[in-house]
Amino acid sequence: MEIVLTEEDRGFRDEVREFLSREIPRDWPHPPGTGSFEIGEEEFPRLRTWQRKLFDARLIGITWPAEYGGRDAPPHHDAILQDEMVRAGAPPTINLLGISLCGPALLHYGSPEQKSRWLAKMLSGEEVWCQGYSEPGSGSDLASLRTTAVLRGDDYVVNGQKVWTTDGKVADWMFCLVRTDQQAPKHKGIGFLLIDMKSPGVEVRPLRQITGGTEFCEVFFTDVVVPRANLVGHPTQGWLIANTVLGYERGTQALSAASTFDGDLGRLADELRGSDRGADPRVRQQLAQLRIDLSILRLLGLRVLAGLREGRAPGSEASMIKLFKSELEQRLYGFAVDQQGPRGAVWGGEHAVDDGHWHWRMLWSRAGTIYAGTSEVQRNIIAQRVLGLPRD
Ligand SMILES: Cc1cc2nc3c(=O)[nH]c(=O)nc-3n(C[C@H](O)[C@H](O)[C@H](O)COP(=O)(O)OP(=O)(O)OC[C@H]3O[C@@H](n4cnc5c(N)ncnc54)[C@H](O)[C@@H]3O)c2cc1C
Repeated sequence: MEIVLTEEDRGFRDEVREFLSREIPRDWPHPPGTGSFEIGEEEFPRLRTWQRKLFDARLIGITWPAEYGGRDAPPHHDAILQDEMVRAGAPPTINLLGISLCGPALLHYGSPEQKSRWLAKMLSGEEVWCQGYSEPGSGSDLASLRTTAVLRGDDYVVNGQKVWTTDGKVADWMFCLVRTDQQAPKHKGIGFLLIDMKSPGVEVRPLRQITGGTEFCEVFFTDVVVPRANLVGHPTQGWLIANTVLGYERGTQALSAASTFDGDLGRLADELRGSDRGADPRVRQQLAQLRIDLSILRLLGLRVLAGLREGRAPGSEASMIKLFKSELEQRLYGFAVDQQGPRGAVWGGEHAVDDGHWHWRMLWSRAGTIYAGTSEVQRNIIAQRVLGLPRD
């Protein structure tokens, strides 16, 4: 990573390297760059054990306060950590939605009791979280969501449906946007509620996706009783909370993505160097362009990091990163599969290239321009908030 490291930074990096070389499970089946690494349900127990080790070493959520399981580290240490994890081929971290979205929401808007109850178990992987935002008919126009939470005594009673819920079938908890005020304008009547997925009245139905897995679910709520104490912030502060933390999701993914893409682009270049295709001018042009785009992604990531170091949350520039990263991912893995000819179309078995790694990556990249706000939505945000154009 192109950050000038101080002695303290180098000490931290060495600690991470030493931990990873000692602790990465020898039998982890997906060394860097090979194999499909979609997290199947059967992988969860093993990954929970791995995450517990990270947690015990305080190597997850490191920018969070020490009292909630972090180590009060500066944001660039998180970038160092992510970079080292990618390089070492560490197993993936589970509970990313909880850690990258719900955790920051609780840190910014949660009560001391809520922080103590949920944050550490989120980091350790003891409790896995899913995100209950999208509904049928309320994706890009999220504020039109219709799931209701009606106050009855000390409880909310929740009715409605969510969709595209990642990890819905393995999650213990959901952070959920619910309509708490039916009369208010749509953005102003939404609350941020934490729902126990084992509550009576919660039904989870898995959805089959193009990669073959069932990471996503539909979740139905019928008269689900949720304690009022599980509401984060004020009853109608949900939209503000959701948008603050969305900036983190969109803005802070550039550097770890750049590390992953860097490794794959390097392997691709190695293969092309020794083949006739590498002499094809069209292939060389595309490869060179990918190299340039990857450098831009890294620079965008470093810019957000510099802002975080000065205490500035990622603003609408996060949309630029989200857009650029997801479209670059599609170009990179589409290009990789193209180079493999007919074998690029093979998913598994003896003819699949690198055990289907590139094929899986290419398919998965299609999702990147949709989740966390589509590319069209990001362009609208940039047009309005960065360029000052009128709303569409
Ligand atoms: C891999 C993946 C994981 C996901 N995980 C979760 C999750 O865990 N929890 C969750 O709540 N949701 C999740 N989602 C859902 C995701 O947030 C929505 O799919 C996304 O917000 C888009 O909504 P939609 O699918 O309803 O599409 P729509 O909003 O119906 O959009 C359809 C098309 O119209 C375009 N469009 C819509 N409005 C405009 C506009 N104003 N201007 C220009 N074009 C427009 C869109 O860009 C898109 O091309 C996930 C999605 C994916 C792909």
